[in-house]
Amino acid sequence: MKKIAFFCIPAHGHTNPMMPVAAELVKRGNEVQFYSFNEFKEKIEKTGARFISCDRFLPELTDNEKQNLKNVSQTEMSIQDIRITLKMNDFLEKEFKEFQPDVVYTDSVCFWGKLNAWKFNVPMVVSTSTFAFNQMSSQYMKNSPSELADMIFGLPKISKELKTLEPYGYHVKNTLSLVQSDNNTDSIVYTSEKFQPYSESFSDSYKFVGPSVFSKVMPDKNHERPLVYISMGTVINDKPDFYSKCISALKDMDVDVIISCGNAVSPSQFGELPDNIKVYPYVDQLDVLSRADAFITHCGMNSVSESLYMAAPMVFYPQTGEQYAVARRAKEIGAGVMLEDDSAEGIKKAVQTVLNDKNYARSAAECSRDFRSCSGTVGAAEFIENAPNKSNGYDFLKEVNKASGKFNIIYWIIAAVCIVLFGIFVSWRFTWIIGVVAGIFSYPVGQAVQKKLYRSMAEKRKKNIKPT
Ligand code: UDP
Repeated sequence: MKKIAFFCIPAHGHTNPMMPVAAELVKRGNEVQFYSFNEFKEKIEKTGARFISCDRFLPELTDNEKQNLKNVSQTEMSIQDIRITLKMNDFLEKEFKEFQPDVVYTDSVCFWGKLNAWKFNVPMVVSTSTFAFNQMSSQYMKNSPSELADMIFGLPKISKELKTLEPYGYHVKNTLSLVQSDNNTDSIVYTSEKFQPYSESFSDSYKFVGPSVFSKVMPDKNHERPLVYISMGTVINDKPDFYSKCISALKDMDVDVIISCGNAVSPSQFGELPDNIKVYPYVDQLDVLSRADAFITHCGMNSVSESLYMAAPMVFYPQTGEQYAVARRAKEIGAGVMLEDDSAEGIKKAVQTVLNDKNYARSAAECSRDFRSCSGTVGAAEFIENAPNKSNGYDFLKEVNKASGKFNIIYWIIAAVCIVLFGIFVSWRFTWIIGVVAGIFSYPVGQAVQKKLYRSMAEKRKKNIKPT
């Protein structure tokens, strides 16, 4: 029996997948203490874990900070994460001394969980509620200009805030080392190896356990007319205009519709609803998805995983770079279509496409079988109990980087030769043009070559041939 401390930020998408793991660990006789927030108390206590409330450490927010968090600003989230860590310092010091956990299981962006595991030298396992992101898989993201600006201009602000942690014994190199997973840290990812983009680039410190769901319900699509489910998740769900467009798009179709609109929007604001459409602030999503024939989703990792688990094809409507990555991967496996045009007409067309072409449902069902064959919560519980897990030390990504590094050297040697030849035979005055052109092309060419090398090395590895 082990003593295990769970830590998570106050967000449904991050907390939900940790709960079935807590339940499994408790069932196996471990003592689990879950440091979380009052809104999750009831659900956490149902798992058998001891709920420890951390609400009093949440800082008072200014209107501006509230707005930034609502817009999912990574900078604001990191700054608040650091401030909560500071406010929790004395409390967690006492807790770690009294509870003496054998393992810390912490969400990947929960700084106070990670930092205290490092500070008190307790084996740590990271819970990754999105895809695992590294230099390869993050290429799936498409950040908007405002997200990019937030990241770039936010870095100095976060570095300044990080300095406030030092006097308390938390030593952090930079933000990236706090948020990015690495090949030496035990990490659980709630997806299958097949669905994770570039899964070969992750070492055996990563355990892909498949979606973490409580439900034993099997998909059941036998009903009179198709069911369309719509949800924008629990964070950026204040979208009354979008729900209204969905209502106009689907009211005359021969389908039943369930909309989960969140707490920021009231179902009554849509007036009298057509008979085939129901709007709720919150639903039992897994239950609805088990019956759904199409799901219009914001592409949060949990929602897409649950949809695939329940064999429901989707219309993807991502709102952030991370959600775009999830949508892109789900589209790649053929489980849905991207909502390119979010007018009522566009929504109607996308839903019709997903309902009429059964290939989308077939791909989702195939993924459901893959997910259900993963080791699941039992695999996650074993991995946590055994932390720190032994690794074979093999780092495939390092091999790929070595090979693409060689290519980069060759690329720049060729560019230098071209510059010299241009200088000798054409004009020395304009050699800078060659330099600029080589510079512009170096990134896309480098990325394309890296991807090609990756694929061929991964193929060779699969066939058990040592890559050169
Ligand atoms: N959820 C739910 N009922 C609802 C809306 C959402 O149970 O009416 C759950 C959903 O099952 C999922 C989580 O809330 O587990 C949303 O997580 P996701 O990562 O999809 O999106 P986020 O809310 O983090 O943007």
